[in-house]
Amino acid sequence: MTQKIALIPAPPMLFPEALFLYSSDVVLIEVQGNKKSVKQTMKTPFEGIIPSVNYHLWEPCNMRCKFCFAPFYDAKKLLPKGHLPKEQSLQLVSELAAFGFEKITFAGGEPTLCPWISDLISEAKKWGMTTMIVTNGSRINEAFLEQNKEILDWIILSIDSLTDETNLKSGRAVTGKKVYTKEEYFKLIDKIKKYGYRLKINTVVHQLNFQESMKELIEYAKPERWKVFQVLPIKGENDKHIDEFVITDEMFSAFIANHHQLQDEGILVRENNIEMKDSYVMIDPAGRFYTNKNGMQEYSESILSNGVERTYFKMNYNYQNFINRKGVYNWK
Ligand code: SF4
Repeated sequence: MTQKIALIPAPPMLFPEALFLYSSDVVLIEVQGNKKSVKQTMKTPFEGIIPSVNYHLWEPCNMRCKFCFAPFYDAKKLLPKGHLPKEQSLQLVSELAAFGFEKITFAGGEPTLCPWISDLISEAKKWGMTTMIVTNGSRINEAFLEQNKEILDWIILSIDSLTDETNLKSGRAVTGKKVYTKEEYFKLIDKIKKYGYRLKINTVVHQLNFQESMKELIEYAKPERWKVFQVLPIKGENDKHIDEFVITDEMFSAFIANHHQLQDEGILVRENNIEMKDSYVMIDPAGRFYTNKNGMQEYSESILSNGVERTYFKMNYNYQNFINRKGVYNWK
């Protein structure tokens, strides 16, 4: 099965491209004018490896969600600013692409606060990766949408509730005070669609919203995918308030049952605490793979110092869990 074409570094007159095949083969194609010919085939370490990676490029966020599991306290101890500098971050993205990851999701914190976010997206796109950003939406404006329309494929909006009170209580509000109203969310969705971005919505289900219906939002936004997560406790990251948010499996199932039609249509993809663990390839702001399989964040060594291959394999990510949680879908 043929996947995305990726540009690879090449002599300027040859413009070779790499066609990634799901079988773990890479075919290098030489393009001269209209003529294309197979130059070389090679094996990648791709088979059985999760093809998508989430790069949490930095921790700063303008919202204050009390259940947030991404404050990355550990990275702050490691690096003076708590995240890689721009040049290292760019290098990391190119090394991830060279390793064979096909899709990259930039997350945070709030990634749109990062002044070099467009450079990172552009670097990933240069390599032919499918590019995504997870955002709380507060800084997605016309300028951002215009600037990134050729390089960013998907926008993933985190929306947990259309009720101001719920968003305020949960901290999903700028500085914990200014909520995004229903009307503002709808206008934002209109703008994103106007520019032709593919849209996904993420919702975290917790004590304050498990009885809420999100049908109006989803029917309006018509996202290609709606990921619904059971709020996830992570030791050392969100312990302080998590008791106010954790829900039982039954409460989570009640939310799903309330939206079963969207699940039947294949739009809603659910993930409870078990399904979420160990099935995401995640990178922290200090440039290390991490996993939450034991209920806390555990890190690899630095990817840039030790190589993607060595650090990836040490993490023992669970490919089957990735498949089970429907991690493969039509993202290209
Ligand atoms: S918007 Fe996202 S990164 Fe920011 S506090 Fe909320 S969950 Fe955390």
